[in-house]
Amino acid sequence: MVSIKKHKHRIVFYLLLNLAIAAMITFSSYVRLPLYAPKDYVYYGIHFLILQFTVAGFAYILTLNKWLFRVVFPVLFFLYALFAFGVYSMGIAPTDAIIKATMETKPDIVADLISGPVVVYVLLILLVIAGLEWYYHKHRLYEKQPWFVFAWILAALLLFNLTEAYRPNTLISRMPYNLTWGVYNYFQKPEVHIDNITEHIIPGMEDDLRIILVLGESLRADHLHLNGYSRPTTPHLDTMPNLISLKTVYTPLTYTGISLPQILTNQSINDRQIHPPLYSIYTVASRAGLKSVWIGNQTPEKSYAIFIDENTRKVLIDSMRDSYSFMKKKDEELLPVFRDFYRKKDYRLITLHMIGSHWWYENRYPPAFRRFKPVIKSKFIPSNTPGEMINSYDNTVLYFDYFLTKLIRDISPGDNTLVVFLSDHGENLGEDGLWLHARHGKAATHPAALIWFTSKFAEKHPAWVERMRSHAKDSLTTDFLYPTVLDLIRPQGFVYDTTASIIR
Ligand SMILES: [Zn+2]
Repeated sequence: MVSIKKHKHRIVFYLLLNLAIAAMITFSSYVRLPLYAPKDYVYYGIHFLILQFTVAGFAYILTLNKWLFRVVFPVLFFLYALFAFGVYSMGIAPTDAIIKATMETKPDIVADLISGPVVVYVLLILLVIAGLEWYYHKHRLYEKQPWFVFAWILAALLLFNLTEAYRPNTLISRMPYNLTWGVYNYFQKPEVHIDNITEHIIPGMEDDLRIILVLGESLRADHLHLNGYSRPTTPHLDTMPNLISLKTVYTPLTYTGISLPQILTNQSINDRQIHPPLYSIYTVASRAGLKSVWIGNQTPEKSYAIFIDENTRKVLIDSMRDSYSFMKKKDEELLPVFRDFYRKKDYRLITLHMIGSHWWYENRYPPAFRRFKPVIKSKFIPSNTPGEMINSYDNTVLYFDYFLTKLIRDISPGDNTLVVFLSDHGENLGEDGLWLHARHGKAATHPAALIWFTSKFAEKHPAWVERMRSHAKDSLTTDFLYPTVLDLIRPQGFVYDTTASIIR
């Protein structure tokens, strides 16, 4: 009891400090979680306590010295709390892509973000900082740290490392660690570099040919009705003329960050060591003097952001929200931007990057597409039945059917246009007890792939269409994309491996 009395001010201070950090920073990562059963709340309650305990350990380090607490703490608390406001109010998840977007944002956009609530929140942050500083200095808490502070710091560091070792990204994907990690990643050099093409390339591409590349997300081939799935998930595409489904495409690379760099470049799935020279389809297009645009509904990861930057233009329709956000835009909002660029006839290669069927499925489609019911209720997967998981997933497929059909209807039959759709990988839906992707599971290795072309294209290129139809029966890999796109660009004077092309 003597000890508690002696440390009364210190204990009150640490309680207040943790309360401030929890309310203004860490809790922001939990506020929009859809939870259902009591056990979901228990699970995420423990999750939150682990996170808060580790953050407390890091925060305590800043209280060990009065200058650290006077200078470093206010700056860090202010910045983290400000980002947390973005998470609370707009569902923004701070990653290196968000840091990049923030750094590159123009002053007028920043001015737009300054609103009444932001001003009130900033004042509140300053007030909390002032209160904590006042209490800390009044009671001279920097003098003689008791043993329990050091014990807490050690325990927190240990728990942080154990949790991350047990399940990577448990803590790192949440505030304040995701912001810290995002800033760190932003300043890291990209792990790949693209080689310069030294050859002089003459574009052999027909003057009016347009290539539309649609990159899907977590869409598995066997959940498309047009591929034989029992449920009517593709009512529009089922009867779409000039559509070819490549039913058996394989990739062992089952998460976006490693599959897209392979799909977009001359790297093969069999060649995981990146050996220079490395070229992307955009390297070739730009060397051939063709204009290209990337229209994305995902915040680009560092591993493929460099390929995006090779495009003539880049439009990210929702650059501040990543797939963890519960307020992410639906893919349909890519289409008006697509239409604008498609109208400009000089954009010859247009890429759309979807959020597609990425988990949490319920955020991927509007309510009108909730055909398969009941759907998932909780972010905690064990609280949903396998049937609910599959229902929600199939609703995203139904929305994909609508999305791709709508895109195709924007293209005139008289245009000489080819649309290539390829998902980055599939998804585990309970096979071998696995769910989602980025885990090893066979179901995630078969992405959906579709080819659609206009009547004009078919008229001009009967031999290509014939070959694509015959290759549709083959076992393919995602290696097909790079040489196929290059065969359309026809870069004269540039040598590439044509083996996997589906128009040869
Ligand atoms: Zn993915």
